[in-house]
Amino acid sequence: MSRTVYVNGSYLPEEEATVSVFDRGFLMADGVYEVTTVIDGKLIDFDGHFTRLQRSLTELDITNPMDRDAWLEVHRQLVAQNGLDQGMIYLQVTRGAPGDRDFIFPDPETTAPTVVLFTQSNPALVDSPKAKKGIKVIAIEDIRWGRRDIKTVQLLYPSMGKMMAIKAGCDDAWMVQDGAVTEGTSNNAYIIKDGRIITRALSNDILHGITRAAVLRFAREAQMQVEERNFTLEEAKAADEAFVTSASTFVMPVVEIDGATLGAGVPGPLALRLREIYIEESRKAAL
Ligand code: PMP
Repeated sequence: MSRTVYVNGSYLPEEEATVSVFDRGFLMADGVYEVTTVIDGKLIDFDGHFTRLQRSLTELDITNPMDRDAWLEVHRQLVAQNGLDQGMIYLQVTRGAPGDRDFIFPDPETTAPTVVLFTQSNPALVDSPKAKKGIKVIAIEDIRWGRRDIKTVQLLYPSMGKMMAIKAGCDDAWMVQDGAVTEGTSNNAYIIKDGRIITRALSNDILHGITRAAVLRFAREAQMQVEERNFTLEEAKAADEAFVTSASTFVMPVVEIDGATLGAGVPGPLALRLREIYIEESRKAAL
């Protein structure tokens, strides 16, 4: 069935939705995005995603084309018009289509940002078969640019990383810089050793995950020990448990890292507990 999508102020059938060939998102990856999860037809952590969107736009000097309430209304309209119960809303804002290709940013007075949103249904988000088995990750070098804190649409290397993982019979890749794990291709990475949850601290090296912020808060509230610091690939391979977080996977247990099996090779108790808490609390606070 055709979806209703949003492009620059209009709700359209997906077949009729178009963006200019001169759009800087298309020509230069000059744009940012957000993915907000929907459970029971409600938005998970909408305000976290809105705040990060604002930050990404500010860092790139793109004017936010809508205020919080207008963004919320578009999200809600798309949920309603598509009858979305469980899945995601993808949103993208680019610097727009100036009508020519030029490295110089166009004048924002004459070139408005392009705004696109669409829904993706996924009935298996909460009751995920993958979360029951856990995922396997390979390690790859982190060769991305130095502003990974900005959620840009430059996703070629993460996409290549996932393909490398699949070729190796695994699910995903963790990226490593100077011996330390930065993050997963589309998620934040954690290990657990002797009951302590360890994850890299926030900096320009990683995306400031909205799920990461929520999960660390819930972990601390549940009296779990959290250490925000670099950890090496060797440490990860010797961990008791590991997991990744993202809006669409919540807390996803990792059972193998670069060929090393963690514990018994099944999802660990702390990762599973955090997944439960995250889903329960997020459902309660959904908009
Ligand atoms: N790191 C990277 C590189 C990502 O692409 C994502 C997901 N977009 C995340 C972390 C997780 O962020 P969030 O919890 O906000 O989905």
